[in-house]
Amino acid sequence: MSGCGNSGKSDIRGEIDNNIEKSLVVVKPDGVRKKVIGEIISRFEKEDLNIEKLKMLRISRELAHRHYQDHKDKSFFDILIEYITSGPVVAMVISGENAIARVRGLIGPTDPRKAERGTIRGDFGDDITVNVIHGSDSMENARREIELFFGQSKW
Ligand code: UDP
Ligand code: MG
Repeated sequence: MSGCGNSGKSDIRGEIDNNIEKSLVVVKPDGVRKKVIGEIISRFEKEDLNIEKLKMLRISRELAHRHYQDHKDKSFFDILIEYITSGPVVAMVISGENAIARVRGLIGPTDPRKAERGTIRGDFGDDITVNVIHGSDSMENARREIELFFGQSKW
């Protein structure tokens, strides 16, 4: 069992904060084109999540393949790679208590047509591919994705 850098320190009242997690969030090319970067960041900040790292980049085909390696045999893989490399994105590391699930809750389900109003995909997404934003789905993937986007690398 290992967290994302949090050692479960107790604070001054002796309470233990064990569930501090980090998530890799990417505002995808359509999110940048729609000019909702600021709106999206605001939603995370209003929920008291922390923006720890942030950068704009153009995802290379190599990075896209590595980021989405689990989907390489899916029917939509080629379309997904075309889409995610089609323009600049904003990548960030978001931290906070239970950040992975909370970020996914604010994002909404993969298909924006099934997402409720008030979720990021429900408000700004087009379809099951063009869905505005990525958020890590597990601690293992968060660690892997943060290393890919923010580790010592050439991206
Ligand atoms: N995607 C797609 N068609 C599908 C399912 C997913 O084009 O039927 C795309 C979509 O952009 C999605 C990404 O592939 O965000 C990764 O899929 P995943 O199932 O991991 O969804 P997510 O975790 O992003 O909700
Ligand atoms: Mg996923």
